[in-house]
Amino acid sequence: MTTLLQSNIEYLKGVGPPRGELMRKELDVHTFSDLLKYYPFRYVDRSIIHKIREITPQTQYIQLKGQLTGFKQVGDKRQKRLIATFRDETGEIELVWFQSVDFILKTLKAKTDYIVFGKPTVFNGHYNIPHPDIELFTDEIKTAGKGLQPVYSSSEKAKKRNLDSRGISRLVQTLFLQIKEKDLPEFMPPEILNKYKLISRYQAMLNIHFPKNEKLLHEATRRLKFEELFLIQLQMLKVKSNRGKISKGFIFEKIDNKFDLFYKELLKFELTGAQKRVLKEIRKDTLSGRQMNRLLQGDVGSGKTIVALITMLMAIDNGFQACMMAPTEILANQHYESIMEALRGANLEVALLTGNVKGKARKFILENLAEGKIDILIGTHALIEDGVIFKNLGLVVIDEQHRFGVEQRAKMWNKNEKPPHILVMTATPIPRTLAMTIYGDLDVSVIDELPPGRKPIRTIHRTDADRLRVFGFLKEEIQKGRQVYIVYPLIEESETLDLKHLMDGYESISRAFPMPNYHVSIVHGRMRPADKDFEMQRFVRGETDIMVATTVIEVGVNVPNASVMIIENAERFGLSQLHQLRGRVGRGAEQSFCILMTGHKLSNESKQRISVMCQTNDGFIIAEEDLKLRGPGDLEGTRQSGTVNLRLADLVADGTILEAARTTAYELIETDPSLSKPEHQPLLRYVEEGSKEHIWGKIS
Ligand code: ADP
Ligand code: MG
Repeated sequence: MTTLLQSNIEYLKGVGPPRGELMRKELDVHTFSDLLKYYPFRYVDRSIIHKIREITPQTQYIQLKGQLTGFKQVGDKRQKRLIATFRDETGEIELVWFQSVDFILKTLKAKTDYIVFGKPTVFNGHYNIPHPDIELFTDEIKTAGKGLQPVYSSSEKAKKRNLDSRGISRLVQTLFLQIKEKDLPEFMPPEILNKYKLISRYQAMLNIHFPKNEKLLHEATRRLKFEELFLIQLQMLKVKSNRGKISKGFIFEKIDNKFDLFYKELLKFELTGAQKRVLKEIRKDTLSGRQMNRLLQGDVGSGKTIVALITMLMAIDNGFQACMMAPTEILANQHYESIMEALRGANLEVALLTGNVKGKARKFILENLAEGKIDILIGTHALIEDGVIFKNLGLVVIDEQHRFGVEQRAKMWNKNEKPPHILVMTATPIPRTLAMTIYGDLDVSVIDELPPGRKPIRTIHRTDADRLRVFGFLKEEIQKGRQVYIVYPLIEESETLDLKHLMDGYESISRAFPMPNYHVSIVHGRMRPADKDFEMQRFVRGETDIMVATTVIEVGVNVPNASVMIIENAERFGLSQLHQLRGRVGRGAEQSFCILMTGHKLSNESKQRISVMCQTNDGFIIAEEDLKLRGPGDLEGTRQSGTVNLRLADLVADGTILEAARTTAYELIETDPSLSKPEHQPLLRYVEEGSKEHIWGKIS
């Protein structure tokens, strides 16, 4: 049975097949329900019209009423601009368009009243409004009188076919003439509505499109944001709770043999309190009889690898194999070597499998793996391939999760008939709100303590003018026996140019630090893996003093003797990337330095990023700042996951609503996991219908 809301948008009065097609293609609106959820992105109070004279440099958005008194086109074909003079009783201002110039010119009329809305900027000492919203001051607007009017986003194509904000608004009005309260039944359990004082779904929908007043708009938005976040959390917690029931996990009962040997004899240092706490959490999981899906967050250098290794030993003591997957060749190599080193004398079989292991060597590993002769397999994405078959895989460790998509995580599950325990490690601290949304189905452990004896890294900002002094400082450090990283940006779109920068940099550094007193290595993404590895190993062994590199060294690489990190064009890096890079130093007992090199002129945002870096070493603070500066869509870890496609809620601003939504979902799943109580039936039905439609498809 299709409900009214599921009707094809074509059937809405005033739409019809051609515009229906346009709405599907341009606005992603397919059904009545989609149109209902096509929320305005802004509201304007038509009753407030300002005068041009009132504009000051501080003015944000402003609404004006006046007439167009002149038009001119400037620039050439390639970069045409349309400038219109707009005037009211108090003065004039320029309206500027950079796009669709011809089309706009055709539609604008002189000697007619217009309402203009936009953000004034100053150019050559004059105010202008780039790409304003402009519409005729019609009777419709006059009679609309007071009140907030919705503004909908639209595309150029849709606008040409009368589907601009006003056109969309008219259709939503038509829709509300057709739907009654019963078409938008409430599905939120009454106890939740009461507890959080949420208005009904129908009232919320009506008021988000046509708010009666500010207060109702606020209530409508709050209700719908809550609903959006609540449904996501509910789904994630359901996945988690079902998984617990369906996927029985292996029980790592014993901890003796290898674990004891390692802990008592091989481990060279005392674990930090945080490491011990996390191991207890893991131990609890692996004894619970449910499959573990745990995210281990810990700042760079906090010692996640040793926690992973000890967990692998628990698996091995219980007769299982374990594997560890890293995002890059270099990192897989490094894990392999450090684990081999740590396990020296433990009499365990450890193997390395990457894309580079081919032919006989690969065949040998695969055979031994299938026969259960390999205890620990370390590698890259190569581990996911179908041909890689374990005899009895009990634990999968995934390092630096943000490089892997959710799908890859899921693939590892299927490496065994009964899914192995999964430990995901990330050094990119994720703000709480975001973690709840993208990793809502994982349990989270945090290592919030660095191994003792580490000195905080000192971060300094320098410009090109200071270069000689910086080089002098490097010489002093190298004199003391330390090593240095110099990192250049690599941005895919201009890879060739970046490579040139890197090579130029390498040359000038080789000149400033000549042989035989100094040895300089270089590593970048265009090199053959074997060459990359060779250079990297030279640096690891201390045979070279300076490592000139692109961000290939960003993740995980561990050279405790390296004490200086220079980041060139630091303004081109995001905060979390800067933090990751900085984490390559400060791994030994020496005082370490991170020098952020930039040009003289910086945008405000770059300045802020640099200043955050100079002020704190705390990855969590940096992650919060990053989220504020860039928004969740750009954050590491969210790019591939695609789970942050929220229509209304904002993970930065709506943290409180998110917490409430999560708690509510949690309590609900605890008390009624299958939503079988009568008062939860509408919710159950809504979720089931929804799963056929949209939201759930996007979640792992
Ligand atoms: P990350 O969390 O960035 O992966 P690693 O696991 O690479 O950090 O650890 C960084 C360094 O700290 C390694 O050299 C490791 O041996 C060392 N380390 C880890 N835990 C401790 C500890 N409890 N005490 C002293 N050193 C430690
Ligand atoms: Mg690591």
